[in-house]
Amino acid sequence: MTALLEETGVDTALLAVRGLTVDAGDVRLVDGVDLSLRAGERVALVGESGSGKSVTARALLRLDRGLRLGGSVRLGGTDLLALSDKEMSAVRGRRVGMVFQDPMGALDPLQTIGEQVAEPLRLRGLRRREAHERARALLDDLGVDRAAERMRAYPHEFSGGMRQRVVLAMALIGEPEVLVADEPTTALDVRVQAQVLRLLDTVCAERGLGVLLITHDLGVVAGFAERVVVMYAGRAVEAQPIRPLYAAPAHPYTAGLLRAVPRVDRLGERLEPIPGAPPSPAARPGGCAFHPRCPVALDRCATEVPAWTGVAACHLLEES
Ligand code: SF4
Repeated sequence: MTALLEETGVDTALLAVRGLTVDAGDVRLVDGVDLSLRAGERVALVGESGSGKSVTARALLRLDRGLRLGGSVRLGGTDLLALSDKEMSAVRGRRVGMVFQDPMGALDPLQTIGEQVAEPLRLRGLRRREAHERARALLDDLGVDRAAERMRAYPHEFSGGMRQRVVLAMALIGEPEVLVADEPTTALDVRVQAQVLRLLDTVCAERGLGVLLITHDLGVVAGFAERVVVMYAGRAVEAQPIRPLYAAPAHPYTAGLLRAVPRVDRLGERLEPIPGAPPSPAARPGGCAFHPRCPVALDRCATEVPAWTGVAACHLLEES
């Protein structure tokens, strides 16, 4: 994968992940993932559920205690895996903001919206009045109507889309350099999903924020990301800029994902889900983990792990 990383400027990247491994006891959940994100860039990490994409995102922020992490995760000049827990919690929110799928789970039902959005600033020592004024201005920017009044409301008084705006405000109030957004629109209906994505697009562009978007939906990625890393069974299997990836996916798994999403350039074509299901990490097949589902598998695919060949890891590319 080194060629791709050099091509995409990983050595000058704001966030540079090399050989990330995540182990839960004896089970390897993430196996040697490389990623890079430059300032202001949007990268999507894509795969079905169980591919390891969310575990990867959470590992970058060291959110799950009890998992063993290996490799390196550098943010600017800082190796996040070498920080103490206290130093790492200062990185979260200040340098890296996070938005997750379930806004209700991220909000305290007993605290007002205003208290929750202003809290990171209060923890930094800002006076209540100033912190609340900045929270109000940000909610206003994010399209929350009557923000001053609604700061006094509680999460259950907000709709799903409005709650996701509040969670986005909580992620942005610390003015981070990077935003990690894990399935931020999955729990929303299609119309609200589009609104939230547009909003994310605008605020990230205005702030020059690097965004790592985690999603199972290649349709969501199309209008948002510049580059895509596709994961399967804990490994990165393809990484390309969005246009070539859509035009000519290099890995049969990416091609399968694309055949399963509606596309405006292929109206009338039948959608074909990939047959079968991803393996559990404890029962990952040998060789290429995708071989039981791959429509073009070769004999060697069941026994030999494919090497990275420029943009993807697949024996077909090695042979060509
Ligand atoms: Fe299919 Fe083989 Fe390529 Fe895996 S290595 S994606 S099984 S052709």
